[in-house]
Amino acid sequence: MRKLIVAGNWKMNTGIEEGIQLSSEINSYLSKNNLPSNKRIIISPPYTHLYPISKVINPSLITLSAQNCASTENGAYTGEISAQMLKELGVKMVILGHSERRQYFNEDSDILLKKIKLALKYDLEIIFCVGESLKERENKTYFNIIERQIKDTLFNLNENEIKKIIIAYEPVWAIGTGKTATPNEAQEMHEFIRKLIKNKFGEQISEEISILYGGSCKPGNAKEIFEKKDVDGGLIGGASLKAQDFEKIIESI
Ligand code: PEP
Repeated sequence: MRKLIVAGNWKMNTGIEEGIQLSSEINSYLSKNNLPSNKRIIISPPYTHLYPISKVINPSLITLSAQNCASTENGAYTGEISAQMLKELGVKMVILGHSERRQYFNEDSDILLKKIKLALKYDLEIIFCVGESLKERENKTYFNIIERQIKDTLFNLNENEIKKIIIAYEPVWAIGTGKTATPNEAQEMHEFIRKLIKNKFGEQISEEISILYGGSCKPGNAKEIFEKKDVDGGLIGGASLKAQDFEKIIESI
């Protein structure tokens, strides 16, 4: 059975003390409310918070993820943080391909594939984000866009590597805008993505890979989206910054 997942992407938010407090609250909620083994909770704080948070959470309750890693292994890349450094810090996972990285930092599929390979080399799991812009939704090229984003990256992996990937479908027009894809729009795209994975990697892998929805998911709309057959949980931005909201979303998977 594939995993049902709620992952929080904190982006560049919270001070360190605030982040420790937030992660402790989520940890204590999870220790009081036993989650079934097919449910998985992930948090992605900023880089500076990762080490102190790794000391206050129980790794069997919460998976600690970074929001990015470098596309090179080491060397003269001022300001970058490598996959190996994250691994040494106790991080288990990394978000790659987020639309904010694609848009503001010009991360294209070539760069993302290098990052994916390095993350896998250092045994980090990956939440790989794909999504179309508003223009691409309106001119109805969105299936082509998602297919391209997946073919140029994930199709270069082997069967063992793809098993370390969680896909997040995040329509760019829904991120941080308060606009959500309807449950049917999400399902339609998730089914399409699962079919792409099936055609390349076979039925079993396609049935086991978790595909998350992201884009203005909140306590009031999470359940109806997560109920769809091919939606295996969510990647949550704004609503992951308040423990109570995040916990309500966890209750919706
Ligand atoms: C995100 O950035 O991954 C995201 C889904 O953000 P929000 O929930 O705030 O739309």
